[in-house]
Amino acid sequence: MTAPGRSPGPRPLLNRRLAEFGTTIFAEMSALAVRTGSINLGQGFPDTDGPEEVREAAVRALRDGRGNQYPPGPGVPELRTAIAAHQRDRYGLDHDPDTEVLVTAGATEAIAASLLALVEPGDEVIALEPYYDSYAACIAMAGGTRVPVTLRPRDGAYVLDLDELRDAVTDRTRVILLNTPHNPTGTVLTRAELAAVAELAVERDLLVVTDEVYEHLVFDGEHTPIATFPGMRERTVTIGSAGKTFSFTGWKVGWVTAAAPLVTAVRSAKQFLTYVSSGPFQYAVAEALALPPSYFDGLREDLRAKRDLLGSGLAAAGFEVYRPAGTYFVTTDIRPLGESDGFAFCRALPERCGVVAIPNAVFYDHRDAGAPFVRFAFCKRVDVLEEAVSRLKGLAAS
Ligand SMILES: *Cc1c(COP(=O)(O)O)cnc(C)c1O
Repeated sequence: MTAPGRSPGPRPLLNRRLAEFGTTIFAEMSALAVRTGSINLGQGFPDTDGPEEVREAAVRALRDGRGNQYPPGPGVPELRTAIAAHQRDRYGLDHDPDTEVLVTAGATEAIAASLLALVEPGDEVIALEPYYDSYAACIAMAGGTRVPVTLRPRDGAYVLDLDELRDAVTDRTRVILLNTPHNPTGTVLTRAELAAVAELAVERDLLVVTDEVYEHLVFDGEHTPIATFPGMRERTVTIGSAGKTFSFTGWKVGWVTAAAPLVTAVRSAKQFLTYVSSGPFQYAVAEALALPPSYFDGLREDLRAKRDLLGSGLAAAGFEVYRPAGTYFVTTDIRPLGESDGFAFCRALPERCGVVAIPNAVFYDHRDAGAPFVRFAFCKRVDVLEEAVSRLKGLAAS
């Protein structure tokens, strides 16, 4: 117990679980972009809004008074039905919209609620490294121990070493936290890799939480939910989001699909985080999920062209480029430019040529393994990417 009147001085305000998570690099780099007038290819959000009809659907919901008060805890029925139809039509996954679908405040809350619900203090959670920054913090908030399994560059792409994954499983492992298509490397796990992960999960009786927010942004190969593999339906929490798929990242509409007992568990945590969110936007996303295939094809082809534009520009500027099979991001190696420290490189890049990028080391526990890698986002307008490429051209000379 704290004695009354005790000064808060010597004890840090931020608790021990979160002490290692200071300010995110995104805040530092975005501030740097503003200060130097640089093109910000750091943070992954589109600089163009999504479809007009989806925006109009949100306006209509607002005006019609749908979702302006607390929506139902699991999400509005229209959206839950649309999510279930999406999973069924695309992947053959059948989910009861009433008991097996949960709408969340973006994928971010789905990740947090899943880990808070499923992880006991002391449990180990395996995450693919480099990992999305919220994973480490959520594992820590749940009192879990993160066990990174490192994706390594091979033949121009990042690959998962299945033996390393197998070796990382212990008697304390509770969850494998997957992310495919993978941010920041752009790797899309193949059917063979997913089958091996699934077999391991079944054999060792593990849960899988899988972040599939880039499911519609696959340029090479195809996205397969791990929940479709034998034995996985009852042990997988699948996470999706409207943010990246419909270019409305500010709306924060995400979701979980899973077997009823898992959804019930995740909802137990979610109800005390936000309870509900994004009322009118939920109706708009329900309409967005029913857009024709041409929308999803158009989004993918638009981003494929942007990937190729930025990728060839980076290669021409002297970077080694790991061509992403999916997502918004391209990872590069800066060693061909005579550099080895991604942090120093990214801090200097705005002054050198007016472009902001993110050092991949922030996504690693093994910071040395990530040191020479730098991530650029290509979810920007073509003229912005062209200007960035032209600025980066001067790099070899500067
Ligand atoms: C952007 C992103 C998220 C967050 O999604 P929201 O729906 O905006 O919360 C989650 N996971 C990954 C890998 C992301 O890149």
